[in-house]
Amino acid sequence: MIIFRKIGLLKKHLSGLRSQGKIGFVPTMGALHAGHLQLIGISKKENLYTLCSIFVNPTQFNDPQDFQKYPITIESDIAKLEKQGCDILFFPSAEEIYPNGPAGGKHYELGHLEQILEGKFRPGHFQGVCQVVDILLDITEPDRLYLGQKDYQQCMVIRKMIGLTGRSTTLRICDTVREADGLAMSSRNMRLSSEQRQAAPAIFHVLMEAGKGLKKGSLLQLQEQALDQLEKAGFRTDYFEFANAENLEIINEWDGTQPLVALAAAFLGEVRLIDNMVLNNGVSIN
Ligand code: AMP
Repeated sequence: MIIFRKIGLLKKHLSGLRSQGKIGFVPTMGALHAGHLQLIGISKKENLYTLCSIFVNPTQFNDPQDFQKYPITIESDIAKLEKQGCDILFFPSAEEIYPNGPAGGKHYELGHLEQILEGKFRPGHFQGVCQVVDILLDITEPDRLYLGQKDYQQCMVIRKMIGLTGRSTTLRICDTVREADGLAMSSRNMRLSSEQRQAAPAIFHVLMEAGKGLKKGSLLQLQEQALDQLEKAGFRTDYFEFANAENLEIINEWDGTQPLVALAAAFLGEVRLIDNMVLNNGVSIN
């Protein structure tokens, strides 16, 4: 694996590869786990070259504490990427990505996507995500971009940003990788105490329960049950909502046919976890 810290050198290297075959790109913030490595694995199957970036982007953290405590494990990340057969790692400094400082970046018209769910509870977060991914796509110009369903709303936001910026990159959304007990893998899981780690899979179970209880009509009772179960498991919940899986419009009254995703965000102590589940895979339930 070749590691680049400078944009100019990376671009030069990539321009030599483009004529040979497709390039797949996996942007990450590091502290890599099997969820990230799955994205690398899928990209390797679908492209000649796979490029991963590790950059903890300051502009997407609305909570400075969360930014400061974000785990940095670059040496083991490099070892994992080598083992997974990643071809190129881009590991820039903040100055390299934001030479004029992180403030005052481009604004993206994301519409309702940034008013709801994560957008509502993390103001500015998705603008920051779009800024950094847009910059990274400008630098790397990949054929395919690999994102995890774990961050469902982020996938929708980036899809919108790709449309707004008129890029030709194909977006590939890959399944959420979970621990054996159902907890979605996340770099933030390593900040959980052992007690919190034991409680954490409740978020997955609550999503599963919501899927089982799904009926045409009002979803409010299912939502209340879910909020109740999360509270009993020790979570402080930001939201538990149902939304149209295609456009992320919030759905309280389900017509039995709309594709549905349930999405949750909740704290265990200081650690905020998010998860989601597509409930009916487009199948009608009456
Ligand atoms: P992050 O490093 O958290 O910014 O994540 C980088 C990419 O990995 C994003 O596209 C995430 O959605 C994806 N990702 C993170 N956790 C998982 C997971 N458990 N399963 C699948 N993809 C994931």
